[in-house]
Amino acid sequence: MVSISTQLEAVRKRIDKACQDSGRHSSSVTLLAVSKTFGPEAVIEAMQAGQRDFGENYVQEALSKMPVVRAWAASQIQPPVLRWHCIGPLQSNKARSVAENFDWVHSVDRLKIAQRLSEFRPPQLPPLQMCLQVNIDGGLTKSGVPPEEVLALAEAVQALPRLVLRGLMTLPEPAEDFQAARAVHQRTRLLLEQINASGRLRQALDTLSMGMSADLEPAIAAGGTLVRVGTAIFGRRTAN
Ligand SMILES: *Cc1c(COP(=O)(O)O)cnc(C)c1O
Repeated sequence: MVSISTQLEAVRKRIDKACQDSGRHSSSVTLLAVSKTFGPEAVIEAMQAGQRDFGENYVQEALSKMPVVRAWAASQIQPPVLRWHCIGPLQSNKARSVAENFDWVHSVDRLKIAQRLSEFRPPQLPPLQMCLQVNIDGGLTKSGVPPEEVLALAEAVQALPRLVLRGLMTLPEPAEDFQAARAVHQRTRLLLEQINASGRLRQALDTLSMGMSADLEPAIAAGGTLVRVGTAIFGRRTAN
């Protein structure tokens, strides 16, 4: 089996190459390692290889591995930074656990959830960093706000006290080829630019959370600033 550090290295190379190809600096793209279904030992292995941002889909599962990873990090001579990102569907009854345990939430698609996250964010923690999930390709069964409703939601979310609205997140259907994938990601980029140009937000959005193992190159070509990569780092998942 190929080690996590080797796979991470390969993914970082892909990101560097994609940045180079579109004249961007590598530091403009953050790699989020999606560790869902893998245990705390896999996260720790990735941390030992320098990875700092981790994405989880299932709150319960994340809560069970966090203490183990945090204890390991705290035991290091120079405790490394560790950031947890919630990227899965959000239910109201999980809002408190998410607000108390994550640094970022990418999958907010309604005001109610954002309000709860703000309400439950503990005062001693920095504000929760947030993206709005957009249903950019109109998938019928998909979560995400329709593009035409994003600006209004963004305005309302930005008014909440314990959050910082950072940008947009998408999870498009697999595309036919590079061009098609890039075209979909460009629609998200355009949407972000339109929102910023509207002058209706107090603070411009700076994050485009788009691109996964299979489409990180077209996402970066379209201006993505954060890629969420699971399989290419940790290997195939047996569930989900
Ligand atoms: C699982 C998942 C990923 C990672 O997908 P891979 O294809 O394994 O890289 C990224 N984003 C979301 C929202 C996911 O659920």
